[in-house]
Parts: sequence; C-alpha cells; structure tokens
Amino acid sequence: MPLFKTEAVILQSRKFSETSKILVAFTREKGRMSVLVKGGRKGTKGFAGGLETLNRVEMQIYHKGGRELQNFKSSDLVDGYAELRKDLKRTYTALSLAEVAVRGTETEDPHADLYRALVETLEVLDRTGENPWSVRWNGLLRFCRELGFGMALQECRQCGSKTGPVKGFDLERGGFLCGDCKLEKPHQMPMPGESWGVLRFLDTCRPEAAARMAVHADAGRRIEALFNAYFRYHLPGLRGFDSWKMLPQLYWE
Ligand SMILES: [Zn+2]
Repeated sequence: MPLFKTEAVILQSRKFSETSKILVAFTREKGRMSVLVKGGRKGTKGFAGGLETLNRVEMQIYHKGGRELQNFKSSDLVDGYAELRKDLKRTYTALSLAEVAVRGTETEDPHADLYRALVETLEVLDRTGENPWSVRWNGLLRFCRELGFGMALQECRQCGSKTGPVKGFDLERGGFLCGDCKLEKPHQMPMPGESWGVLRFLDTCRPEAAARMAVHADAGRRIEALFNAYFRYHLPGLRGFDSWKMLPQLYWE
C-alpha cells in the first residue's frame, strides 16, 4: 500500500477500542483525514507519542484512495505548542479554529492555505497571550476566504462608500453597510462603527500583528457574535460550532 508522508495538525483524537484510536488530522497536502492508530495490547506498548490534539506532526500513513479511514504508520512531533496549552483562553481559541477545520471541510479536500493559516495562528497563540480574540478573528477571516465566503471589507457593500459611519453588516454579501444604506433584510445585522476598522485591519494583517489589536469588551462581543452569525449563514448545515459557545465568557467576563 502506498505510504503517504505529510505534515499535519491533529484536530481530534478519540478512543476507538481498548487498543486503538481514531485521529482526525488536517494534512498539509490532502486536507482533513481520519487515521486509525493501533496501539500495543493494553498495558504493554501504548500509542505512539505526540498524537495529542493540536500537535503539529510529521506523519506517515498507509494511504488507500477512496477510503474514509486510513491506517497510521508513524509520526514525529514538530511542535506541541506547550505555551498556549498553559492558558485556557488560548487553548480554546486554538480548539475553536480546529473545529472549523474538522467540520467545515470535507475528507481529502486539499486546503493548503487553510493549513498555513492554522499553523501560523497556532504559532502566534503559542508565542503570546495578547488579544487571542483578535488572533482568532484574523485566522477566521483567512479561513472563510479559503472556504469560499471571504468577507469584502473595503467599502459599503450596498453603495460603495469608503467612508463611514458604519451601521450594519450584510451576512449574504459579507461586508459592512454604511449609515446612508438601509438595514432591512433578515441577513443584515446592526454593528458598531468600531468593528469596521478592527476587521479591516485584521483582514490584511499578519497573525503576529493581530495579537497587538486590542478591542473593548463590548465591541469584542459584537464581533464575536458577527462571526457566529456569518459562519452559520454560510455553513448552514453545521448550525454553529460547539467550541465557540464559551469564548465570549472566557474572553470578557
Ligand atoms: Zn452604503
């Protein structure tokens, strides 16, 4: 059977039997992949190391096309992101992005840019505990672009005005609406003016610059609610992400 060697981030790990587990890995070359890892008999050898959720690894997989579950051969740890794991906010931020990669992509649907965005975001979360929400939104802006519903934030989506004030956000068109335009459709939600500048900056900056973007708690909650509504609107089958629910409380209470 062909051996597939790839770098990957472990998105999920669950027990399959007493001696085996199933990993959901996001591979750099082939996107999301489920991998069966067989351990030794109970109490003897155990599992290969380095396979915890959020770890970045070099992995060898016995790969057979058209199969939902692949077989694990071996792995080497590239980065375990030990610093971000010491901080609940950063850990949940990282898990919230992992959940998008698990549930927002298909099996073996390559997303090299999403992989790069995920790894770069994990690296910044590991380096600094500053403004993890801004780092998350920067990652999500890259994710939604890669998943085909990127936001367009440079001007009012209705009239094209490039100057504020901002009144709301149009989920369908993926951008802001200015004060001169009407907010009347169910997919249009009011948004505070501050959010426009924040998201415009985060949409184009590097993840390390995103960590320097401070946001007031009130605006933060509104932006967080916007991302929830936006991903639910564009990925309606998913009805939101479980790991996102506790973020506002964790960030701002
Ligand atoms: Zn307008």
